This record gives sequence, structure tokens and C-alpha cells, in this order.
Amino acid sequence: MSSVRPYRQILRRPSRQIMVGSVPVGGDAPISVQSMTNTKTTDVAGTVDQIRRLEEAGADIVRVSCPDEESTAAFKDIVRHSNVPLVADIHFHYKRALEAADAGAACLRINPGNIGSEDRVREVVRAAKANGCSIRIGVNAGSLERDLLEQYGEPCPEAMVASAQRHMAVLQDNDFQEFKISVKASDVFLAVAAYMQLAEACDYPLHLGITEAGGLRGGTVKSAVGMGNLLWAGIGDTIRVSLSADPVEEIKVGFEILKSLGLRHRGVRVISCPSCARQGFDVIKTVETLEERLAHIATPMTLSIIGCVVNGPGEARETDIGLTGGGSGSHMVYVSGVKDHTINDETMVEHLVSMVEKKAAEIEAAKAEEAEAPAAE
Ligand code: SF4
Repeated sequence: MSSVRPYRQILRRPSRQIMVGSVPVGGDAPISVQSMTNTKTTDVAGTVDQIRRLEEAGADIVRVSCPDEESTAAFKDIVRHSNVPLVADIHFHYKRALEAADAGAACLRINPGNIGSEDRVREVVRAAKANGCSIRIGVNAGSLERDLLEQYGEPCPEAMVASAQRHMAVLQDNDFQEFKISVKASDVFLAVAAYMQLAEACDYPLHLGITEAGGLRGGTVKSAVGMGNLLWAGIGDTIRVSLSADPVEEIKVGFEILKSLGLRHRGVRVISCPSCARQGFDVIKTVETLEERLAHIATPMTLSIIGCVVNGPGEARETDIGLTGGGSGSHMVYVSGVKDHTINDETMVEHLVSMVEKKAAEIEAAKAEEAEAPAAE
């Protein structure tokens, strides 16, 4: 595909497509954004509530941990109340995978380092096949198989890829191709090198993650550096940002990473200046309030909030709606890059919120009309 701006073009690695419930992963499917609940799975109401918040933030897929039999029993109820496909996270006890598959999991995440013998993996494959689940082979640098650690001396990209390949072979031998793979590490160099090698070694869809990345700020930066590097190279079909923070933040950060690379657009992308003595209004406070007030908008849109004429008109040219600070509390509003009207400090935020909401409704209506058009012909 040619582009008028080749420097912005990312060529995605060709991968097979699998289904995680109703969500396609791999091939030409949009890169999906996942998170994981951190409530007790046995607390059905609390977990469903968290899934609902994740859905509202735009989560395509949600993972739920199934550490014991009570959790897989609760999982069944949770599946019934969830609008997005759920992945059951399994460690140590392969039987939980069998139960979760029966309970309606869309995908089973198994960790090669702790799931046990090949026979057990075979049983998991049987259960996945019987229930139409996909599988994620979730290799983690921190829990590699002992023999691989002995062979390679330490967790390294080669050992991680070898672990993934070993499990790929078991699934393939059982005539099962509906799987994706992750090779996560908390060290960005290790994770990126492992994913790069794995991307070369197979065409299965890849689930990206920098594991145990840290808190909201540090983890966001680390994930953006690691995953950004891979996504920029065209690698990655679904992503999970791991943060020691509210899981909703993981979804928000995931989308921001994809948005910054033009790989996925959801919600309002705000372009704003850092502000300085020239600002015609309080840029930082305005952006903070607008981001909060516009969090419910899922329609892809751009909004520039720039403190003065130094960069305001230029940025406004590239955005759907733009605001440029002017003197005496009177600021210029741009629509589709063109000067439209002025606005004052007091009504500015309310006015922009309603403009964005209106524009989003228009875009959605146009999309709906376009979707209906072929049927009407
Ligand atoms: S756009 Fe204007 S207000 Fe914003 S940082 Fe630049 S000079 Fe300062």
C-alpha cells in the first residue's frame, strides 16, 4: 500500500488470524487492546463491574485469573455478564483450563513454564477444541522451564523463543492452530529481542506486553518504549499494558500507544502545547478538564488546544476542532482547520465539549449511513 506520507507508514508483519471469541486477532484485524481484572474472581459482582469499566474504556478483550476451582465456577457467571470475550488466565493447574473452557472462556492463557507435562497441554488443547476456545502460549522470562534455563544459563531471547516453540509444536502436533503467543519480560531489551526473534520464527499472531512494567508513570513509559519499538517495526497483533494501577489506565495507555503510531484511533486525540508565558488561557487546566469531560467519546477525532498564535493556527489546520489562545480572554475556534468563531474564557470548556459531542454524533451518523448504503442499492 502506498502512502502520501511514507515516513508514517508501518508495514505490519503478516500473521495468521485467530478468533478470541468474537474478536479477530492477527492478519489485518485492528490491534486489540486488553487488560486484566484485579478483583477476586470469586467476587462476581466486583469483577463484572470492573469488566464493565474496562469495556467503557474501550477494552476489546479482558483476562480473568482462574487460580482455583471456586474461581472457574465464578468465571462461568462472569462470562454471562460480559460483553467482551474473556481470557482465562491459568497457571500451575491445567484442570482450571479444562474448567474455564467449559465455563465459556474465549481463550485460555497457559504458561509453558508452569503448566506441566505435554500430556496436560494435550488435554488443554482437547478442551479448547471442544469448546471453540483459542489459546495463548504465554511465555514469561521469570518462569521459564528449568531445562531451558540450564541450557541457556539465564533467561535470554533464545530461551524464551525455544520455550514458545516447544509449546507451538505440541499444539501443532494436536492439529491446533488457533493460538497466539507472547514472550514477555520486564526488561525491555529482553522482551523486544525475544519478540523480534519470535516474529521471524513463525507467523502466529503475537500478544505484546512488557510484564511487571511498574506504576502508572514508569510503566507507561517502559511499555511505550518496548511495545512502541515492536509496533513501529510492524510486530504485534494484540497488546496488554501491565501497570500497577487501575486496569482502566492500562486500556487508556494501550490506546494512546496505538494512537501515537497511527495504528488505531479511538476517542479524542488531544494535541496541546506545554504552555508558557505567551498562553492566552490556562492550557494545562483546560486540557486536564477536557480530557476528563471527553473520556466518554469513542469516535476518533482530533482536538488541538494551543495557548497562542505561535503554534495554534498550524496545529488547528491538522485537527477537526482547534482552539488558539488570543489576547484579552478572547480565543479563536477553528473547525476543520478554518477560523470559525471566537470564544471567551468563561464558556470555553462547555462550548468545546458540546462542539466535540456534536461533531462525534455527526461522524457516527455519517458512518451509519455509509454502512447502510450498499444494502440500499
Ligand atoms: S504555543 Fe504559544 S503558549 Fe503554547 S508553548 Fe508555544 S509559545 Fe507558549
